[in-house]
Amino acid sequence: MRKIGVFVCWCGSNIAATIDVKQVVEEAKKMSGVAYAADYQYMCSEIGQNMMKDIINKHNLDRVVIAACSPRMHESTFRRAAEEAGINPYLVEIANIREQCSWVHKDKQAGTEKAVALTRAAVAKVTLNNELIPGEIDVVKKALVIGGGIAGIQTALDIADAGYKVDIVEKTPSIGGRMAQLDKTFPTLDCSACILTPKMVDAAKHPNITLHTYSEVEKISGYVGNFRVNIKKKARYVDMEKCTGCRICIEKCPSKKAKSEFEEGLKNRGAIYIPFAQALPNVPVIDTEECIKLKTGKCGLCETLCPSGAIDFNQKDEIITEEYGAIVVASGYDIIDLAKFGEYQYDHPDVITSLEFERITNAAGPTNGKFIRPSDGERPKKVVFIQCVGSRDKTERGKSYCSKICCMYTAKHSMLIKEKYPDIEAYVFYIDVRTPGKNFDEFQRRAVEKYGVHYIKGMVGKIFPEGKKLMVHGVDALSGEVLVIDADMVVLAAATKAKDDAVDLKRKLNISTDINNFFTEAHPKLRPVETASAGIYLAGACQGPKDIPETVAQSSAAAAKVIGLLNKSKLVNNPCVSIVDESLCSGCLACTEMCPYDAISFKNIEIDDHGQRIKKIVAEVNEALCHGCGGCTVTCRPGAIDLKGFTNKQILAEVDAICR
Ligand code: FAD
Ligand code: SF4
Ligand code: SF4
Ligand code: SF4
Repeated sequence: MRKIGVFVCWCGSNIAATIDVKQVVEEAKKMSGVAYAADYQYMCSEIGQNMMKDIINKHNLDRVVIAACSPRMHESTFRRAAEEAGINPYLVEIANIREQCSWVHKDKQAGTEKAVALTRAAVAKVTLNNELIPGEIDVVKKALVIGGGIAGIQTALDIADAGYKVDIVEKTPSIGGRMAQLDKTFPTLDCSACILTPKMVDAAKHPNITLHTYSEVEKISGYVGNFRVNIKKKARYVDMEKCTGCRICIEKCPSKKAKSEFEEGLKNRGAIYIPFAQALPNVPVIDTEECIKLKTGKCGLCETLCPSGAIDFNQKDEIITEEYGAIVVASGYDIIDLAKFGEYQYDHPDVITSLEFERITNAAGPTNGKFIRPSDGERPKKVVFIQCVGSRDKTERGKSYCSKICCMYTAKHSMLIKEKYPDIEAYVFYIDVRTPGKNFDEFQRRAVEKYGVHYIKGMVGKIFPEGKKLMVHGVDALSGEVLVIDADMVVLAAATKAKDDAVDLKRKLNISTDINNFFTEAHPKLRPVETASAGIYLAGACQGPKDIPETVAQSSAAAAKVIGLLNKSKLVNNPCVSIVDESLCSGCLACTEMCPYDAISFKNIEIDDHGQRIKKIVAEVNEALCHGCGGCTVTCRPGAIDLKGFTNKQILAEVDAICR
């Protein structure tokens, strides 16, 4: 006979206000195998855990059920406490009576009945639990960072400084990300390049960091501690070892019609180009779509003129395979396409995005920092900034969330032009001003109080170009007044969005994204930099809109998690993995197709069939790859594959107990 202890938690008033915990205890006492039942205000507290341990020892309990919050919160806490009391941690079950009862029911009696049913199910399951022993796996002492923006750079530097090797895989020809495009940065207004480029150099020179620029992750297999990654290194057609960065090729290349991605299309670049002056590596790349030689076989001027013989048209894309213990995703964000926002006339040259504004005001940008109108090169006298273009917009063309950074960078932009040209009049249309960071509110108020920027609460209905003017029609929502501003330039704070290839990357990594395609953290409060896949972490704006201070903080947090992982000599394996009964397996392959983690393969065996030796193929589970999702067990028709800790018998016993 089992000796099960049931502990019902109040979770303060979280559970106790809606569930009659005393009644759950009384009902638990009547359940088969239950030797002891009690309740306590905070089971997860030290007092609660000690109480549980004392009772286990005093009453010789051999199994435990905790009726409390979700197992995602405290299952590991209670397993550890049970182990300290001498019980195998897998002889503990959680009945989730908070998220599944008290938080979703108002009727106390119905909620209590459900809590009793869930506790009964947990008791039925724990009765059938077996002791499980986790295995151990080795850890490759090297990390991969996907994305070389400020998030990827900071993460890599922190991991490398702790003594571990890190590879950064960056899709574009240079590291730096969006921050490299910015002029000055809020809230301190220091020059973006001045704080970013030293970090880029540190990363490029660090003995523990290897940069794979112009590269992408092709395929990822393996598991925490032992990921195997195929990286595609795209052909640059320039030998990085030989190139001295003299730029003769860039000057002489006759194909100069491509729009510079770095300059947001405000300037052209050549077929052979370095994205920006401080790019790292500072080596050109040839754009296959623009190069005359690669398209027609003619030209080849760069090859002829290069004094170092660095141009190599025979270069091919290359796939390299590397192994890593941990992966950090730092692939950043993008800005929405404004094609669907016809009312703002984005196709007019003097209507620009905020990122274009960053380039126009930048001393190294297309106008050498002169704030002039793209249409005629004249200095504007009246500039209208429109916030929330596509943000907090529930229609299909926009994004329902707040982009978080636009209120601050719009205040920054308005101050930057007022600082340089006090005679310019600046207007900001906003829905709300959201500036909750440290010194952020003071920063925005400075735009109004010191620089006299006109903030108008309201949205712009439409912009009509009239001659050289842009007539901005809007409403002041506070006074109800209809406004028409004859602007010379309009700056649109376009919503941020997830990268277009985030879904592709998510599939490769087996992690999840939210409805907006930003990567999802394992728990928004308690595990904000981890994903649900062990060993894969998140840093920066790939998780959701973020400014630089937040990005850097999260990157260091992700690095700390990676360092903690790589520090371990061995990792403990989850023992709740699938197991195959070879005598029942028919070798039908159904489970291999179902397994999302490629954890099942097949092997040949010989079995004895009524005295005859016959050969057959059977499924084989790689325990290190198995995540214990249980998909295979429901696919297997002969019932040959079962999940340790969640066997078919245990699940059916739970169902029976609930239906009783
Ligand atoms: P990113 O900068 O987007 O970097 C991501 C990197 O990953 C890029 O290099 C990208 O090429 C690479 N990448 C993407 N996908 C892949 C892939 N599949 N494989 C490999 N590499 C990949 N913040 C402030 O704090 N202060 C400011 O003043 C400020 N001003 C701003 C002004 C504007 C107009 C905008 C739009 C933003 C501003 N920000 C500001 C926000 C700032 O840009 C972000 O906080 C910061 O860039 C986030 O860094 P990140 O590394 O997460 O992403
Ligand atoms: Fe490099 Fe040759 Fe171009 Fe000079 S000419 S930047 S050495 S590829
Ligand atoms: Fe430019 Fe291509 Fe000619 Fe080189 S071969 S100079 S990259 S067009
Ligand atoms: Fe694959 Fe899930 Fe079965 Fe494990 S439990 S072998 S991860 S399908």
